[in-house]
Amino acid sequence: MSKDVVVAIDGPAGAGKSTVAKALANALKLKYLDTGAMFRAVTSLVLSSGLDTHDEIAVGSIARSMNLVMEHGTVVANGSDVTADIRSMAVTNAVSTVAANSLVRANMRDRQREWSDHNNGGVIEGRDIGTVVFPDAVLKVYLTASPRVRAERRVAEAGGNINEIERSIAERDLKDSTRADSPLQESADSVVVDTSNRTIDDIVNSIVELVRERLK
Ligand code: C5P
Repeated sequence: MSKDVVVAIDGPAGAGKSTVAKALANALKLKYLDTGAMFRAVTSLVLSSGLDTHDEIAVGSIARSMNLVMEHGTVVANGSDVTADIRSMAVTNAVSTVAANSLVRANMRDRQREWSDHNNGGVIEGRDIGTVVFPDAVLKVYLTASPRVRAERRVAEAGGNINEIERSIAERDLKDSTRADSPLQESADSVVVDTSNRTIDDIVNSIVELVRERLK
């Protein structure tokens, strides 16, 4: 078993995973990995190459051959800076279909484990991090918040119509939690944290405490 410290942060869209995971990584002096950005990068390449997102083999092959560099907050896929494109509505609406593809998931899983080996673990956010990718994580957190609060957060970040965003989040959560391969779900040993009515500092401090206890 590896001695790497992995903290898994899973949960639905808009639960506050990125904000909490980044602050946590900072507090624990660990690296941070946004695995959603990896699936989004594959999706960006699939859309720009004009492929059908349901073409399992072709999409799987894009994932396998993708050269991905994620550093200093930028995402570069096959030499193109896709940092802005991966947050576009087109990518957001298509990403759950691409992420349901088992060929894509297997490749992303390998990359995530390699990343962790290379960085001696880290704070890793996603949907299946504690359940599938790192079942031995030191701590597994399942972050959640009410659908309305999650939609409000997305509107505050990027604008848009609250009802439309709420509907789009609900659709994505449904696809992510009902797919056959590594669906979004709490794991039996995850700590569930509802972020609806708590401050970031409060949440981060309590998770830091939990990690420290586990490492004693
Ligand atoms: O976290 P974010 O909302 O950017 O993730 C985008 C999408 O990537 C999710 O809706 C999901 O379809 C997929 N994803 C996944 N497994 C992960 C991380 C993200 O399937 N570990």
